[in-house]
Amino acid sequence: MVLEFGKPLDPKYILIDGGPDGVFVEILDKFLKEKELTDSNSFEVMVLTHVDEDHVLGLMDYLKDYESNIQSFRPPRIKEVWHNYLEYEVNSTGTIDYSADSTRTRGLDDNNLQNSFVDFWNDFNEFNNSKYNSSEIRFPSNFTSKSIQQGDDFRRRIEELKIPINTSFHPENEIIVENHPTVDIEDIKIEIIGPSKKILDLLIKKWKKWVKKRVADRIITRGRDARIPNRSSIMFLVSSGSGDDEKRILFTGDGRGDYIISGLKERGLLSENEYFFVDILKLPHHGSEYNVTPEFFDVVRATHYVASGNGGQHANPNSKTLKMIADAAKAQERNVTIWVTYDDTDQINIFRDICPEEDYTYKIKTVDSGKTFFTLELLGN
Ligand SMILES: [Zn+2]
Repeated sequence: MVLEFGKPLDPKYILIDGGPDGVFVEILDKFLKEKELTDSNSFEVMVLTHVDEDHVLGLMDYLKDYESNIQSFRPPRIKEVWHNYLEYEVNSTGTIDYSADSTRTRGLDDNNLQNSFVDFWNDFNEFNNSKYNSSEIRFPSNFTSKSIQQGDDFRRRIEELKIPINTSFHPENEIIVENHPTVDIEDIKIEIIGPSKKILDLLIKKWKKWVKKRVADRIITRGRDARIPNRSSIMFLVSSGSGDDEKRILFTGDGRGDYIISGLKERGLLSENEYFFVDILKLPHHGSEYNVTPEFFDVVRATHYVASGNGGQHANPNSKTLKMIADAAKAQERNVTIWVTYDDTDQINIFRDICPEEDYTYKIKTVDSGKTFFTLELLGN
């Protein structure tokens, strides 16, 4: 996703995740060319919400073109990357040095690592017992070394390219809601609402374990890194203007509804028995039904709901999620638009059958034919 803001004659851009393999060539590259964005332009920030191939591979392809000398068309420069990672170095004797100034690695010595799996299972059970009975967190099977490896690759590329990481969050250098980070760029304000420190710490412990094993197996001989599956997604609110003119967009990565709500509360953006209105809600986890509940859509109310999926027949957005949105909008007597990257999937057709448009207050919109992306405009030129 690309966020455009600032003055119409001097727009600024933020890139949020890169999609899976192929998305860069098929979509983002075409978007950049259409907007005539080259290396004389820049992205203020490239955000990798979390390490997962459907978010990182597109960014890796971007970085390939970024450094290429033979490319006649190079994509915009990147001023800063936002990404939660575990910092470590492997020295020549094979011991692992964790960065001394990283708050997140403090206290995580090897003894603590033995407990990490216990912590993890406690958390996992708590999770299973919650109303989110989910495949979102198919630990440990879904929590594979593959995505960690991809995080490793991403982190190294960013370092090789000398792109600053998380400098907006100095000195913490980690992006967590408890620090209440707010970043102002031009006319927008970005408030981080997730992940929480608890979740990031849990994942970092797991990540350290992985590093230890890789070093023991002599697979890693140098490097630093990052790790985060879905729940630890960087989630943030972008706002611009004030009063009636204020516009708000909620970016949620592959996070979960309850964390979004607790993050908004943590930041004082939402009180008990209040609703949270946004112009655009990027649906968490591509519109998976495992990341949201009807209660979530009761509290968080958007005009536009955006689901980015890859168009497979059983793919997200899920019909149950779409039904939750349609039911909520009808109950709230609000007209809403659901934006999908692919229209004719099984799930969307099921949804249309159970919630016919004429009985509800939603409409579905998708990419215009012949185009590879859609644009939502909140601010007039
Ligand atoms: Zn994803």
